[in-house]
Amino acid sequence: MTTLGVDLGATHLRAGLVDRAGRLSGVTRQALPPDPTARLDALRSVVAAHPEVSAVGLAVAGTVRDGVLTWSANLGLSGVDFAAELGRPVTVLNDARAAGLAEARLGAGTGAATVLLVTVGTGLGGAVVTGGRLLEGAGHAGEVGHLVLEAGGPPCRCGNSGCWEQLAGGVALNRTGAALGPAGDGTPGAARLAAAVVAGQPRAVAALEQHARQFARGLDSLCAVLAPHTVVLGGGLIARSGPIRDAYLAAARTLRWHTGAVLPAQLGDDAGVLGAALAANPC
Ligand SMILES: [Zn+2]
Repeated sequence: MTTLGVDLGATHLRAGLVDRAGRLSGVTRQALPPDPTARLDALRSVVAAHPEVSAVGLAVAGTVRDGVLTWSANLGLSGVDFAAELGRPVTVLNDARAAGLAEARLGAGTGAATVLLVTVGTGLGGAVVTGGRLLEGAGHAGEVGHLVLEAGGPPCRCGNSGCWEQLAGGVALNRTGAALGPAGDGTPGAARLAAAVVAGQPRAVAALEQHARQFARGLDSLCAVLAPHTVVLGGGLIARSGPIRDAYLAAARTLRWHTGAVLPAQLGDDAGVLGAALAANPC
């Protein structure tokens, strides 16, 4: 029995076949066009190329409820019923939730009864997996980035302000990096912040420390509520070695409410595909 796992991200579509043992093969990756309709066409083509699979799992960068993408700032899509779009049953889940399921079963969290995954990308995503099962609640459990940490803080795309991701996510690091000076070469703010820290600029060092403290504050609150055995940190800004990854991992190891393991994610870019396939074949 083989499952097709698909990861529909903000910029790329990734797909692969996953067998019962969680082994991944035939991975393909393609850049997505900016047009939302063309993105759905690319997804349809990938799924249509695999009529033989027993199930299809889809991870998407957005909020999902009952197989419908209700909102996605990254994809420019909303109200998409994927089963109707693809003409076949499909299990749909948020991409951070998929990554959490995969890391808990096959990656850094293997063997831990309760795993909290937090992804540090543009925003902060999350997943809670207990006994190998994803906590879903009414659908959106794991939206950790919207934990409000600072009343009256920076406005968030969710409509609230002072959300955790606005203080410690990539958007916050980008803002800080951009404030260091004009971007002559178009380097993203977070990368400029990292470069300034490596160069020893005191303002940049202090700013990154502040973001890392904000990151630890939110993580500590989550650990107080969830009491995970293992915390896994993933996402693009943790995958890339450098001062941001180092500062966030170090800060995450100084929590009051979690003395267990804090580990970087292991599955890299395959986590979404693997998690989507696992979700489509619960066992
Ligand atoms: Zn928010």
